[in-house]
Amino acid sequence: MSATALPNATLLDAYKAMTPGSATLSAKAKELLPSGIAHDGRNFDPYPLYVKRALGPVKWDVDNNKYVDYFGGHGALILGHNHPTVTAAVHAALDNGTHFGACHELEVKWAELVTQMVPSAERVRFTSSGTEATLMALRLARAYTGREKIVRFKGHFHGWNDHMTSGYSNHFDGTPTSGVVHGLSDAVILADPNDVEGITRIFNDHKDIAALILEPTGASFGKMPILPSFLKLLRDLCTQAGTILIFDEVVTGFRVSNGGMQKACGIIPDMTTMAKIVAGGMPGGAVGGRKELLDWLDFQVSQAKGMEKIYHPGTFNANPVTAAAGIATLEILRDTDANDRANAFGAEVRTRMNEVLEEEKVKWAVYGSYSGMHIFLNPEGADITPSTFDAVQFIPQMMGKSRGAGIAPKVRMGLLVNGVDMNSGPSGTISAMHGDEEMTVTVDAFRATIRALKREGVI
Ligand code: PMP
Repeated sequence: MSATALPNATLLDAYKAMTPGSATLSAKAKELLPSGIAHDGRNFDPYPLYVKRALGPVKWDVDNNKYVDYFGGHGALILGHNHPTVTAAVHAALDNGTHFGACHELEVKWAELVTQMVPSAERVRFTSSGTEATLMALRLARAYTGREKIVRFKGHFHGWNDHMTSGYSNHFDGTPTSGVVHGLSDAVILADPNDVEGITRIFNDHKDIAALILEPTGASFGKMPILPSFLKLLRDLCTQAGTILIFDEVVTGFRVSNGGMQKACGIIPDMTTMAKIVAGGMPGGAVGGRKELLDWLDFQVSQAKGMEKIYHPGTFNANPVTAAAGIATLEILRDTDANDRANAFGAEVRTRMNEVLEEEKVKWAVYGSYSGMHIFLNPEGADITPSTFDAVQFIPQMMGKSRGAGIAPKVRMGLLVNGVDMNSGPSGTISAMHGDEEMTVTVDAFRATIRALKREGVI
């Protein structure tokens, strides 16, 4: 069923009519899991979608509704769902066993690919998630520099470890969020993105900054873009101050280009955090960086140099199934134009959706970079033109607006009812498998959503 089948229904009625199976599962889940969910990003009123199968650029829910998927495994699936080569590699690895409690050949091959493809990665250490990768990157930077302070940018996301919680969507004054101790948040300095004077002042005032970490295309994959000139300034400031520059490429790594944002922009950080694509759609992550930094994880070097080695176990680090998926994915990205195809789709879908906005005379904008898209819903009614929208000017306005607030959930519901799944930004990531059919469905769904929201008096 879809909105077309229920032409006069509200989006909410249409959603409920087409998703009874999700409603039933959610009712049961709410008795078992907080809010019935396993990831905050899935919180959705009246209940989230329950998906049972996915292939390439699409997925099906438990009621057999089909959706063009821009959730993309939270950005992990640049090759779409179930890419046959990746799936075959995973099956083969599974047949050999999921965990050997030992070193294995695949982790060597995987590390070789990462170090060949990511310019900053002379050495790599695998983790089980992006959160673990950013945690380790900070620890390495502190050990190496002997300093404690960390600079982060407001709005930038680096996982949910204790250093990373304030200043993402709240606590912009740096105070700790629920459950985080004061001592940790005191060591974090929150900076404003693209604020040249502000960041220069921070480096003048603090001579003990161990690391600066950021999402190199800007918060939430370019939703709040970072200017290239600012990125260059950060590189220079860090070099002058002996501060470790960390690019959090958990999303942009192997996506923006097959060597991540650092390869695309030519600015090379000291360390890089990775997850999502690097693990080929399986759970995993990695920290890469200069050898002398990763040496703090090396038994022999740390002993020889009299450094106290950083302890790093992790039951599922570089497990063979994840390694197999990672290798298969990275080889495809290395050897094909998959990144370019996803980026080209991104440019076209943003243009086509902006044409819809112009036709429908709605002052929103669809923007983004590379294979990302974001819908600016213009809550304060600024006089903007969709095709020339400059998100940088609106960063202060976007900051602190909790994801999924205002009319964003209604837009998301409209898109769902019309066969498209994006996150509650509303934002989406694009795979190399999105093609003409998905383009048409997406543009039509966007138009139908806008018309439904007009009918309901929402816009
Ligand atoms: N950094 C960035 C930029 C992310 O987008 C994410 C996850 N969305 C993380 C870190 C945390 O990764 P994980 O969910 O694997 O812990």
